[in-house]
Amino acid sequence: MTSPADRLSPVYTGLPLTVFEHMSGLARQLGAINLGQGFPDDPPPQALSDAAIRAFSTRSQQYPPMAGLPELRDGVAAFYQREQGLALTRDNVIITSGATEAVACAILAVVSPGDEVLLFAPAYDAYAPMVRRAGGTPVFVPLQPPLWQYDEARIRAAITPRTRAMIVNDPLNPAGTVASADDLAMLARLACEHDLVAICDEVWEMVRFDEQGHRSLLAEPGMEARTIKIGSAGKIFGATGWKVGWLIGAPEMAAVLAKAHQFLTFTTPPMLQWAVAEGLADPAIPRALIERWSASRLALLNGLFEADFAVTASAATWFACIDLAATGIAMDDATFADRLVREAGVATIPVSALWEGADTPTHVVRLCHCKPIATIEDALARLTRWRRTL
Ligand code: GLN
Repeated sequence: MTSPADRLSPVYTGLPLTVFEHMSGLARQLGAINLGQGFPDDPPPQALSDAAIRAFSTRSQQYPPMAGLPELRDGVAAFYQREQGLALTRDNVIITSGATEAVACAILAVVSPGDEVLLFAPAYDAYAPMVRRAGGTPVFVPLQPPLWQYDEARIRAAITPRTRAMIVNDPLNPAGTVASADDLAMLARLACEHDLVAICDEVWEMVRFDEQGHRSLLAEPGMEARTIKIGSAGKIFGATGWKVGWLIGAPEMAAVLAKAHQFLTFTTPPMLQWAVAEGLADPAIPRALIERWSASRLALLNGLFEADFAVTASAATWFACIDLAATGIAMDDATFADRLVREAGVATIPVSALWEGADTPTHVVRLCHCKPIATIEDALARLTRWRRTL
């Protein structure tokens, strides 16, 4: 007799627990410093929490409009005009319960059984299972460390007449790299040539340390009508538990995306939507966060440098990656992460967990740096002490 659980979808029964939950679980259980899953330890900006509390006591807590509060949809459009020069209106914007829901809506709305979807490895681990659940086949093109660069020839070779979409995560988690102007032009050219939809997970757009404004693939010639851009208040404001995100697309596209959203979460807590609308209107809030995160990032990078750890290229996100092979540590990333959390009390993310296939590199681990500097220093001390015991 098989168990009823065996009758569930093999997409999920065959899937490991997400590495983020796995490592955070170990960190909780062992009382380790958690540089694994990405989230700041500090509370979100006071202005944001104040706005949420005000909204709780003064605003309706019933279903808001399915596509989001009009005030927040306008606010998101105005935010992108200010930050990225994009000309949008509320008709381009659908509010979702976090960016992961937005990714799900985009995939469900775009992918039909038999379609292929181009993914770049390493990839956020939600993409491939969702593509498979929609009946599609993920086709991975690797971005190899230490530079994590796009390779046009490999991308071209991966495109077939069945390719329907590409999922582009820029800036890229876990690497922390940013697509160059040439990369964006190349991706846009390929999308237009092969009539692909670009699902652009740009949740890290504001978390950049290279003094450059983010440029979206949406802004490339020919891309306005074929791009679904995804953003996240959790990343912009360092409030990952808020789960307020959005989808941006041409109005005809947004109207279809809304139909996927209406049967996933339908709406998103209105109190949080009001607060995010207030936060987006104030450019000083994300600037102050970047200053704080910049300092803790430097503390981690300098500490790793002083302790002779080789790191891979990065300019954005809350993450930096150690190249174990270049550091002279002959251990695969999964073993390294498991031993480090158990023996030294520091949780990290083995990057191979975000990769599929035979060419998976197993020598890179990701560390989250948006933590108080004392925490970073403690983690660095544990890491160096432990390394001496190897
Ligand atoms: N985006 C987060 C990270 O990369 C993880 C999100 C999650 O745990 N689902 O750390």
